[in-house]
Amino acid sequence: MDARTQNHRLTRRGMLQAGSAALAGVAALTVAEAQDDGVPRSTDHHLTNESVRGPENPPLAQENPNSVWAPDTDNGTVPPFKYSFALAHKRIDTGGWTRQVTARELPIAKTLAGVEMRLTAGGVRELHWHLPAEWALMLYGNARITAVDQQGRSFVDDVAEGDLWLFPAGIPHSIQGLGPDGCQFLLVFNDGDFDEFETFLITDWMTHTPKEVLAKNFKVPAATFDNVSKRAPYIFQTGLPGDLKAEQNQAGQGTGGVPQTLAFRTSQMKPNKVTAGGEVKIIDSTNFPVTPISTAMVKLKPGGLRELHWHPNADEWQYYMSGKGRMTVFAAGTRARTMDVQAGDVGYVLQSNPHYIENTGDTDLVFLEMFDSPHYEDVSLAEWMAHTPHQLVDQHLHVGTAMIDAIPKTEVVIDPA
Ligand code: MN
Ligand code: MN
Repeated sequence: MDARTQNHRLTRRGMLQAGSAALAGVAALTVAEAQDDGVPRSTDHHLTNESVRGPENPPLAQENPNSVWAPDTDNGTVPPFKYSFALAHKRIDTGGWTRQVTARELPIAKTLAGVEMRLTAGGVRELHWHLPAEWALMLYGNARITAVDQQGRSFVDDVAEGDLWLFPAGIPHSIQGLGPDGCQFLLVFNDGDFDEFETFLITDWMTHTPKEVLAKNFKVPAATFDNVSKRAPYIFQTGLPGDLKAEQNQAGQGTGGVPQTLAFRTSQMKPNKVTAGGEVKIIDSTNFPVTPISTAMVKLKPGGLRELHWHPNADEWQYYMSGKGRMTVFAAGTRARTMDVQAGDVGYVLQSNPHYIENTGDTDLVFLEMFDSPHYEDVSLAEWMAHTPHQLVDQHLHVGTAMIDAIPKTEVVIDPA
């Protein structure tokens, strides 16, 4: 307990022992905690200098208690590091919808951008490609995905909830929802400025190429292309695909399949770490060789803590899948900010900025940590302290060497261990 907390507890006890409601009322109006910075604050925010007299947004405030009343360890200017998919424009088409959170929505997020997409059964995300690589996680349902590599080798496979896929940069591909109810998935691109609405679409390209050139290219009459839609279908409704084996055989004629699979089944993977507080699965190029993007899939039980740590090799792009929590990012130079997060939010932490994530709800907090690096890396505060001479650490912190001696020698990752 620090001096501030002690002082506060004594004050509250004093008020309770006063025995008179009137007296306690007077005390509540005048007594504040002693503060290091000399600014009076109260834990129930009843002081005049804490009062609000203008417009308020109660539902938003309720979701963001750490923004309304930040911990007094927060300080200085730290740009916002979360944005909710719930605020993103949803583009609706005949075969589903999509929305994106990019550096335009969340300016700090320069290295990665995210897209959510829903496809109906039979709904197709049009054949296309783009500059960055595409990492994906199936959130619901089933899809058939296709791609062709630089040597004409094909990839056709079906993916289900929990499966990942990776389309390398510049490689053409498609996604189609399967029965009974299509699918919904998250896409992550290793370019914060990526724009899902500006990809290279097969129909868009063909309708912007002279028909006589198309005719020459394919050795057919120009009229063959009269029915190519001038409005790119983008996400369109059509019939379900054929038999998987038959489609794989057809697509692989002459060239065969890609040498390394572009899909990864997370359900068949054991967690890298399981503790009393939760678990983590790490998927990077060591177990999914084609990926230039690495991932930690984290589940924190109620009260669980993703321990204090940082990532020395890349910025962290986060996607919250369920539950609620909070994160404090320390930005050096006395600056720190705490923001609340919940399902549907994107969070972002700059390279080497330390942070923690705490489950503040009563259900599991499930989220992704994503990095524009083929290798996952982190350093935890606890492992740093455990593997530095303990006397030296204690000369900085004055916590007693017994506390430092007791830190586990291997990284805990998720507390409680
Ligand atoms: Mn794509
Ligand atoms: Mn992290």
